[in-house]
Amino acid sequence: MDIPQNLQRVQARLRSAEQRYGRAPGSVQLLAVSKTQPVEALRAALEAGQRAFGENYLQEALDKQQALAGQGAEWHFIGALQSNKTRDVAAHFDWCHTVDRLKIARRLSQQRPDDKPPLNICIQVNVSGEASKAGVAPAETAELATQIAELPGLRLRGLMALPAPAEGFSAQRRPLAALRELQQTLVSSGLALDTLSMGMSGDLEAAVAEGSTIVRVGTAIFGPRRAAQAQG
Ligand SMILES: *Cc1c(COP(=O)(O)O)cnc(C)c1O
Repeated sequence: MDIPQNLQRVQARLRSAEQRYGRAPGSVQLLAVSKTQPVEALRAALEAGQRAFGENYLQEALDKQQALAGQGAEWHFIGALQSNKTRDVAAHFDWCHTVDRLKIARRLSQQRPDDKPPLNICIQVNVSGEASKAGVAPAETAELATQIAELPGLRLRGLMALPAPAEGFSAQRRPLAALRELQQTLVSSGLALDTLSMGMSGDLEAAVAEGSTIVRVGTAIFGPRRAAQAQG
C-alpha cells in the first residue's frame, strides 16, 4: 500500500469533484477511516499530512491514540456507540459522528472533561430506512437536534449518514440528498450547523455533489481492511 500516493489520489478526486459540482475549493475535508489498520499505516498517513482519523472500535482506537500521542492527530469516533463507551469517547475524541439518541448525548456531555472544548457531534440519521438500525429516523431528527444543541459539553455540528451501498450515481445521490435537505430544514429553523458527514470510498463524488463537508474514506487510502476484530 502506497498510503501517501493513495491520499494524493483521494485528495485529487475531492478537488475535482468540488470543481465539477460548484463547491468551494477545499470545502470538503477528508477523514481517513483507519479502523482495523495497524498503527504504522496511520503514522504513514500523518507523515503525508493527514490529520483527521476515524475509528470504529474503541479499544483499538485508544491503543492507537497512545502510540501516536503528541503527533497532532485529530480523532473522530464513527463506530456504534453504547452507553458503556461514552466515557472514553468523551475523554479521548475530538468528534463523534454516531449519536442517535438523547441518552447517549447526555452522557457524552456530562462526561466531557472540563479542560477540553465541547465535543463536536454529528447526529447519525437513518436515511435509507432499512437494514442498519443505527441512526435516528428523519422525522425525529429535529427534536433530537434541538435537545442536543442545548447540552453544554457538546457542540452540535451537523448530520451523518451511512446509506446502504448503491450502484450508480443517481441511486447514490438520493439518500445523500435527503440528508442535505434535512440539514437545510434544521438550519432554517435556527440551528447553526456546518457539517454534513457523508461519502465513503465508493460514493464520494455523489457526496460532494450533494453538499458533503466531511467524507469518511477508508479502503481508498489504506487498502482492504483486515478482518474486523471482535472487540468494542
Ligand atoms: C468503514 C467506514 C467508512 C469507510 O468506508 P470505506 O468504504 O472503506 O471508505 C466510513 N464510514 C463509516 C461509518 C465506516 O464504518
